[in-house]
Amino acid sequence: MASRLRGKTILITGASSGIGKSTALEFARTQPDDLKLILTARRLDTLKELAAEIAQFAQGVKVLPVKLDVSSPEEVGAFVGNLPEEFKGVDVLVNNAGLVKGVAQAPSIAPADITTMFATNVTGLIAMTQAILPIFQARADGGHGDIINIGSIAGRESYPGGSIYCASKAAVRSFTDALRRELIASRIRVMEIDPGQVETEFSVVRFGGDAEKAKKVYEGVEPLTPEDVAEVVVFAAGRRENVVVADALVFPNHQA
Ligand code: NDP
Repeated sequence: MASRLRGKTILITGASSGIGKSTALEFARTQPDDLKLILTARRLDTLKELAAEIAQFAQGVKVLPVKLDVSSPEEVGAFVGNLPEEFKGVDVLVNNAGLVKGVAQAPSIAPADITTMFATNVTGLIAMTQAILPIFQARADGGHGDIINIGSIAGRESYPGGSIYCASKAAVRSFTDALRRELIASRIRVMEIDPGQVETEFSVVRFGGDAEKAKKVYEGVEPLTPEDVAEVVVFAAGRRENVVVADALVFPNHQA
């Protein structure tokens, strides 16, 4: 059976590492003959390396690496406005870019960290969604496309020291749910995938680059690999149009 992803244009934010990078590789592996990937993040060099990696095993995949900071609404607007003709017809948006800054009890969280987390995880995701929806809605068939938001188990269960990150992911959850209901009469699918613990650079970013502290987060639990989550994202995008993976929680077997 031909893959439902054939000929699609997939846009991934935060594709320079972790889940976003693995998702790009998984899309390319699943549909190596005819696919377009727009890969965005702030680290352009890393995206270019990923494009070269994909070119080695999936010659039919066209990759556009683009430097993009989702926390800047101006950058998001300019990026979508300047997409090359060949990549303008985005079919799937994977809103994956996100981070956690620091571990601190609520009274002592640095204002700059609060701003960064909300500007990336919430405002950035909303800005990307607002910028891409008109592309979906302008289609001659009345509009279709997929939005896949990467939330977190932290949006469902809060933990001490993570109040702002948890609040940001709860906001993603509320936004996704409302958007899905707003678009219920359309052919646009709105989906959310919430990972549990996944071993990526995420924890290193949380501890400001301290890899030793970052590793301790996974003590006692075998975390997921980013590939585990990528497989679920590609599965969701590859379902027939009437099937919506609306709300998927994916965590390691032994995570409480
Ligand atoms: P990584 O740190 O490996 O990846 C995060 C990605 O987001 C990077 O590619 C980074 O790229 C990008 N990013 C961060 N800030 C920005 C920004 N302002 N603009 C554009 N891109 C940005 O972590 P994960 O792969 O683990 O995280 C991916 C998503 O999964 C996040 O939304 C995270 O909240 C979520 N998640 C992760 C879990 C985990 O345990 N790892 C658990 C649950 C959810 P660059 O630095 O180049 O900009």
